[in-house]
Amino acid sequence: MIPYGRQDITEADIEAVVQVLRSDFLTQGPTIPAFENAVCKYVGAKHGIAVNSATSALHIACMSVGLGPGDWLWTSPNTFVASANCGRYCGADIDFVDIDPLTLNMSVELLKDKLAIAEKRGTLPKVVVPVHFAGEPCEMEAIWALAKKYNFRVIEDASHAIGASYAGKPIGNCAFSDITVFSFHPVKIITTAEGGLATTNCEQLAARMSRLRTHGITRDPASMTHASEGGWYYQQVELGYNYRMTDLQAALGLSQMSRLNQYIEMRHRLAQRYEHLLGRLPVKLPFRSSSSRSALHLYPIQVLDQVKRKPVFDHLRTSGIGVNVHYIPVHTQPDFRLRVPKETQCANAVEYYQKAISLPMYATLSDIEQDKVARELEVALV
Ligand SMILES: *Cc1c(COP(=O)(O)O)cnc(C)c1O
Repeated sequence: MIPYGRQDITEADIEAVVQVLRSDFLTQGPTIPAFENAVCKYVGAKHGIAVNSATSALHIACMSVGLGPGDWLWTSPNTFVASANCGRYCGADIDFVDIDPLTLNMSVELLKDKLAIAEKRGTLPKVVVPVHFAGEPCEMEAIWALAKKYNFRVIEDASHAIGASYAGKPIGNCAFSDITVFSFHPVKIITTAEGGLATTNCEQLAARMSRLRTHGITRDPASMTHASEGGWYYQQVELGYNYRMTDLQAALGLSQMSRLNQYIEMRHRLAQRYEHLLGRLPVKLPFRSSSSRSALHLYPIQVLDQVKRKPVFDHLRTSGIGVNVHYIPVHTQPDFRLRVPKETQCANAVEYYQKAISLPMYATLSDIEQDKVARELEVALV
């Protein structure tokens, strides 16, 4: 089976993990800050907090900006459920801003309209989570301008977008957001098996997230209620979690970081090949902006007629091609349907979903495999 996405593990990766296994620290050792620094340096952010998943990173990001019961978090319906669940963990209410049918990212126009209505009703969001779908950057500058106007926080879900750039700068530099979150699940651009990382330029948010990552415990005298009682002393000053990444994972991530640019190049080469191979087929190929550089995490095509989606999908699957669908609109999930406002229809996301198929896209996909995908897609469409 040719999967839709997969990791690339080299001998150097294995050696890096083995070195940690032979060292004194399997967790809470020096490899975590080394990995955090490598990501910060790459994306141009001041602080990086590595955790055990992007879901955990989104959760502590929401907590650190004070999201709680009675607050609203808005995100895109065209995402993985984690982008919305982080708000639910904090007791907040969730609503969705429909996508732009061209970019498949949260529509800035619809966000603008929804904010104007929410302002009148007194239901403005505390947090907006734009998702760089498939690795294609959202219009962050416009979203950030709205954040200043309506006073909400911006947490970028960049789970698909490490290595992408917007306005000539890497996604993750938080030039137009409070916090950016990356995922290192094996299907993503680089992997730590499970793992995630939050970047920010705000010292207070960074300190709060690193405290929440480990039970809300501090060893910083400045954050304690009274003077330290000795070298052993720490205080739990709020309820946090054990969301720590291990040094084994950080070693893998650090080793993978050295190939990030190469991976993005390989994905762009494959996208160009797909454009050439599929150009004449009756499908809509993914949007690619001329002003940003996508990380190309996914390659979601759309059949022109939604009745074709299932037979095409089934044909590809039975031909050994592990296509997938990204995403079932989150607001239509049974556990969300009754929690979101009735007026939230997100028709663009629903229409896109009915036509979407994600073709295989990962750095080590071979030309022969890609040719087979194109061939079988053509067979399925005729
Ligand atoms: C993968 C993914 C997540 C969750 O990442 P984990 O590391 O598996 O927790 C969140 N948001 C989006 C958009 C994702 O694709």
